Amino acid sequence: MTISVSEYFAKRKKAERKKEPRYIAVINRNSCTSCNSCASVCPVDCIYEVPGVLPSESYHQIDTTRCIGCQLCYRVPSESTDFFTLTVCPWNAIDMLYNPAQKKDVIVLEPYYRGEKQEDMPWDEIEEFGYVLYLNEEIRVRPTDELRQRVIDYFTQPVWATNGETPFRICHPEPEDHGNYRLYRVTPEGLQLLTRVYEHYPKVFMD
Ligand code: SF4
Ligand code: SF4
Repeated sequence: MTISVSEYFAKRKKAERKKEPRYIAVINRNSCTSCNSCASVCPVDCIYEVPGVLPSESYHQIDTTRCIGCQLCYRVPSESTDFFTLTVCPWNAIDMLYNPAQKKDVIVLEPYYRGEKQEDMPWDEIEEFGYVLYLNEEIRVRPTDELRQRVIDYFTQPVWATNGETPFRICHPEPEDHGNYRLYRVTPEGLQLLTRVYEHYPKVFMD
């Protein structure tokens, strides 16, 4: 069943899962043709469709805050050695990532942060959101999700730069308010930075 973005956020109001998964899946909207193949196999129904004015402009997205990393949208798990021919998505539009919360590796965005560093900065979620923004140039956040709202606030402040630049925002500070979710979009300079940072980001299996 295809569920639209508005229906999805109206029904699934909380970002929830029992614990942090090892992997998370992210759809590249520019490669997605909205065939719904991935959504039909997702056991937790965390994939929704963003309908376009024309059907060819529609695409699917994964709510990474609810993805359990099961890989069912990515490959047939029993035949893991033959993953190239067994991907579920006909366009290879899905990236399977190591969940930053489990990776415990270098936080790739941290060297570009120029704001005041707080002890409890949610770097894992910042890294996750950064990858989604790199692939899709937009991200949806529930206004009730205090953690993710805090995470996106870092992206909307002029606190990011490479060496010697005046700090800039990665996301526009004024989101589109859709009631159950807010849609944030990247700035051109933000996308440049994200591309530089995430171009060679490690993925699962397809590296
Ligand atoms: S990895 Fe599993 S839980 Fe995550 S989007 Fe794909 S099918 Fe759904
Ligand atoms: S299977 Fe691929 S093309 Fe089809 S909706 Fe999912 S991401 Fe898009």
